Amino acid sequence: MPTSARKCLSILGATGSIGVSTLDIVAAHPERFSVGALTGGNNLERLAEQVRAFRPALVGVLSVAHGLRLRELLGTSPVEIVTGIEGLIACATLPAAEMVVSAIVGAAGLVPTMAAIEAGKDIALANKETLVTAGALVMDAVTRKGVCLFPVDSEHSAIFQSLQGHQRQDVRRLILTASGGPFRTRRLAELSRVTPADALAHPNWQMGRKISIDSATMMNKGLEVIEARWLFDLPGEQIAVHIHPQSIVHSMVEYRDGSVIAQLGIPDMKAPIAYALSYPDRLPLDLPPLDLCALKSLTFDAPEKGRFACLELAYAALAAGGSAPAVLNAANEIAVDAFLQGEIGFLDIPALIQQVLDRHPVSALHHIDDVLHADRWAREETRRRIAALL
Ligand code: NAD
Ligand code: MG
Repeated sequence: MPTSARKCLSILGATGSIGVSTLDIVAAHPERFSVGALTGGNNLERLAEQVRAFRPALVGVLSVAHGLRLRELLGTSPVEIVTGIEGLIACATLPAAEMVVSAIVGAAGLVPTMAAIEAGKDIALANKETLVTAGALVMDAVTRKGVCLFPVDSEHSAIFQSLQGHQRQDVRRLILTASGGPFRTRRLAELSRVTPADALAHPNWQMGRKISIDSATMMNKGLEVIEARWLFDLPGEQIAVHIHPQSIVHSMVEYRDGSVIAQLGIPDMKAPIAYALSYPDRLPLDLPPLDLCALKSLTFDAPEKGRFACLELAYAALAAGGSAPAVLNAANEIAVDAFLQGEIGFLDIPALIQQVLDRHPVSALHHIDDVLHADRWAREETRRRIAALL
């Protein structure tokens, strides 16, 4: 393949779990991909290594101080270093980039992802918070700009794959699978005492810290229900969740003739990332094969009512609409951070989110600024409530 046929990527959040897996795929397929821009947060040593290995034209960091430190680490490398939100947007809209991999964690991913869409880039979306906080606005922009938005989240990739070759009007419902996290079988009364280390120990997936806690509370599945609502344009009532502890069936689509189409694979994010990068092609990946005979059984259960408060809060926020999901998300980010800092207990996470949602007058979202306003309000309200607990 000639060099010019390579797809040029801009990777936002390159130093995180998804970013590193994305670069592993790029490294294994240099004939298919080049890297135009990378962005990172606090792990500047890793970012410097990535710049040396992949030679992007542009690299984005959080602040001028981060930029000076990165320059020290890189010496005379010709890469241009850009900083702050403007720098992130410059990376997201790099003229040479054909596709932007949106892999920042949290609502911080929204503004650069939206800028990439407005600049006509195709998106490989890991940052589910973009759709949770601003789904209607983002999907409007995707349609208006005629760009492709490919899901990276394994469940949404599975649904996207299970929809290929089928007609939308034939879909009865989507079934998202959830591992149930590390506390699936714990007694509810014990959950008030679990530590961040207990909650970070996910049974099947290696992920960043925030999404690992979200998996333990099942907020991750709640955010994914909202993400699916926007990606596949179906109401919450047609999106079900099944607990599937083996994490082999990544999700399913049920059609109106009763047929259920699923996508299966070992739990490794490289598969859904690669599919988003190379759709409609499938890349050869160096992963162990799925050995169903060794597994023996795959099990499915309905989520026990009352056990996963965060999942129920997410369905309620989706039903409330407007600014409610952005508030749910922001309150969750602050509460998870406080839990990781040891400031609040595990069960305080849903309790705080509930209180903040109860105090929030839901408003319509006409513009990204409305989303950012709701997000800021919820962060302040949650911090105030945490301070009162301390
Ligand atoms: P991570 O914490 O490992 O990495 C996050 C990346 O974003 C890092 O590069 C970090 O430096 C950067 N970042 C963090 N805060 C930032 C900020 N305020 N501004 C700019 N950059 C910032 O997270 P992850 O696990 O890779 O997850 C990334 C996204 O992908 C999340 O939205 C997550 O929900 C989603 N996702 C992750 C997985 C997974 O297996 N890790 C699976 C599905 C979806
Ligand atoms: Mg997922």
